[in-house]
Amino acid sequence: MTTAALPVALVGDGLRVPCADGTELPYLSFDAAASTSAMQQVLDAVEAFLPWYSSVHGGVGYKSEASVLAYESSRLAALAFARRQPDSGDVAVICRNTTEAINHLAYRLGLSRGDVVVTTVAEHDSNRLPWARAATCRYVECGKDGTFTPEDVAAALDQRPVSRLLTVTGASNVTGWLPPLPEIIAAAHHRGIPVLVDAAQLVPHRPLPAGADFLAWSGHKMYAPFGAGVLIGPRRVFAARDPFLVGGGAASVLDLDDVAWAAPPEREDAGSPNLIGAVALRAAIGALEGIGWPDIADHERRIARLLRRGLAAIPGVRLLGPGPDTETLPLVTFIVDGVPAALVAARLAAEEAIGVRHGCFYAQPYLTRLLGLTPAEARATSERARKGDRTLMPAAVRVSAGINISEHDVARLLSGIERLVAGKPPVRYRRDPSTGDFYPVRSGARVGQPLTRGMRGAQ
Ligand code: PLP
Repeated sequence: MTTAALPVALVGDGLRVPCADGTELPYLSFDAAASTSAMQQVLDAVEAFLPWYSSVHGGVGYKSEASVLAYESSRLAALAFARRQPDSGDVAVICRNTTEAINHLAYRLGLSRGDVVVTTVAEHDSNRLPWARAATCRYVECGKDGTFTPEDVAAALDQRPVSRLLTVTGASNVTGWLPPLPEIIAAAHHRGIPVLVDAAQLVPHRPLPAGADFLAWSGHKMYAPFGAGVLIGPRRVFAARDPFLVGGGAASVLDLDDVAWAAPPEREDAGSPNLIGAVALRAAIGALEGIGWPDIADHERRIARLLRRGLAAIPGVRLLGPGPDTETLPLVTFIVDGVPAALVAARLAAEEAIGVRHGCFYAQPYLTRLLGLTPAEARATSERARKGDRTLMPAAVRVSAGINISEHDVARLLSGIERLVAGKPPVRYRRDPSTGDFYPVRSGARVGQPLTRGMRGAQ
């Protein structure tokens, strides 16, 4: 059974791409957790706005005013999407993506090495490295299934020195697990510690947590791939001191040796902003809210169940992360006995025209734990990688879906994986040790030039 409005086709769905045997198949992306195609409403909104595109900062004239209005409306839409009341005192900073938003905040909080930030071993590098550079991280460990409890978080928050911030993912990009945010946020607030939720994975799937002090997310993971993301936080944080980026637009008064920073959020807007990205973001917010979270969550829960059950039933496939009773996003990470993850991904791409992700997913410490590697084993593989051989890097395969994926698509993926597990490849694959990737070869040469052949219709 499908929900009335779902699945929703995305721009580019069904494009035919070349396979290793010379045939063409409709491309099927099971890589939504990395990036999503645009929703049609997003593309329509961008096209409708483009004739009105003009300068945002300081321009005078009808089109400039229309552009300022569009930009500021996007900020307001982002705040409402994050369930902030108009009088909440929060601001939305439009930036490039989650990574930039988190770097932005790590600078903005004015941290030093003596400050502690509590985070978890389940984080994406983009929610770990900015904190590890700006402060000292204290990590919440996870169990074998990749989960942790609010009590685990509370225990880390209770250690001394008191932490300046708790930063936690809203949903894991490796297991699709949804940490219990309300309890985790409450535990931090009970101790007077503010919380950042990295909502990169959460944002296209579930409502954003109203209780988080700070939120960061990316448009390209919510069907608005036009280069804009959002950082939300209290105005007072952005009213103190200098902004992350300095330049035109960030200062209201300027002399050679004098600067008065503009009020937030303009203070954070140095340089010409990504107005088209902001327009796309607002359109995606409107489109997702138009479908409605209950329908989105219902549909994706069904897809998640089908993926989990179907993959778990294939001999030789082992799922990583929490068991079947735990709710997850429509995202499953797995390994196949005796087949390198990179080969599984290469074969799905070349033989089935299905795009998935493989490797560490920018979360190597977490994947290492999920795979049950000892610290010594993890160090040994990293050492070999540093010497140019990435073939033994910890790796798994990830399939991830969004609102465009149907039950039929899941069935196609599962039969592709069944074929792959059961049979020998129809073509030979060669591995590049420097990347660890496989690619199909015939008579010693890489098969075709898939990229240029596949883009024929796009030129
Ligand atoms: N956080 C999580 C949980 C992610 O999955 C990702 C990207 O996959 C990021 C942060 C970084 O997002 P972006 O590349 O859009 O900056």
